[in-house]
Amino acid sequence: MSQVEFCISCGAGLVEEGSVTFKCPNCGEEVIGRCRHCREMGIKYTCPKCGYEGP
Ligand SMILES: [Zn+2]
Ligand SMILES: [Zn+2]
Repeated sequence: MSQVEFCISCGAGLVEEGSVTFKCPNCGEEVIGRCRHCREMGIKYTCPKCGYEGP
């Protein structure tokens, strides 16, 4: 498992408060990073490993 430092949706660094990293709810292997902006906007993400799409 590698450390995720960037938002998977927009590529922004996860430096802001409110940024999160979590494991893919589908495969549980890939770590997904999301910035605060994309969380608030409900931007979709796609797991690069299994292709799962989530809000
Ligand atoms: Zn983002
Ligand atoms: Zn996955």
